[in-house]
Amino acid sequence: MKDVWEDWKLYERLVARLMADQLSTEFCVTPNASILGAITGIKRQIDVLIETRHDTDNTRRIIVDAKQRKRKIDVKDVEAFLGMMEDVGATHGYLVCPYGHTPAAEKRAQTAVSICLLPLDRLDDFDLRTWPRCSRPTCKYGRVFWDGYPEVSLGLVAPDGTPTRLAFVHCVGKCDRCRSFHVSCATCHQILCVPEGDDSDIGHQCACRLPWFWLASIEEDERGAQSAELQLVMGTGEVRTVTRRSLSTA
Ligand SMILES: [Zn+2]
Ligand SMILES: [Zn+2]
Repeated sequence: MKDVWEDWKLYERLVARLMADQLSTEFCVTPNASILGAITGIKRQIDVLIETRHDTDNTRRIIVDAKQRKRKIDVKDVEAFLGMMEDVGATHGYLVCPYGHTPAAEKRAQTAVSICLLPLDRLDDFDLRTWPRCSRPTCKYGRVFWDGYPEVSLGLVAPDGTPTRLAFVHCVGKCDRCRSFHVSCATCHQILCVPEGDDSDIGHQCACRLPWFWLASIEEDERGAQSAELQLVMGTGEVRTVTRRSLSTA
């Protein structure tokens, strides 16, 4: 079956990709996220959500709105976006658009919002088919968005007795539709889907069978906001949160 991709969704994904490529690794990116509005009490769809990667910290959230419209961004767009930022508790926002903005929009944006120009011709060499398909059986059109590259190094002893260290690199990310966590091993190229919220899940390991595994859990901050977190669990018992995303549940 053919993927049904509209241009504006491609634009959103391109923005997610460019954001993830520019950010410090201390942040992780979720395309097409959903957060429960603290004021409205309804689910808000967020084109691109930027959060702390390693800790359950929802106080430094950044949201991005990709506005693929045929006119300039105006004051009303900025005000609507400021309202959304307030509802989801974002400390900063990026409004990305292909045709620029009015001078009044820039004044209204002040320091809380950055308005960024991204021309549509940047889509010409962006091909979503290079993203792997989501491996969750019930997810039809999802593609996996990679946003983190955790590395594990293992001390080994060569046959001649020389100690050596080998580095194993992985890609971690989320499906852009169902948002399931995925892990890809750069050594065996296997892609694992790691579901969260399954108490019977004992973890996932790639074909390399090295002394670590992947497990997802649901964590809660002191205010009761939940996030799904993907963990790398080492054989030594050390646990590293490698990526996460807020959930739209209270
Ligand atoms: Zn999916
Ligand atoms: Zn592997």
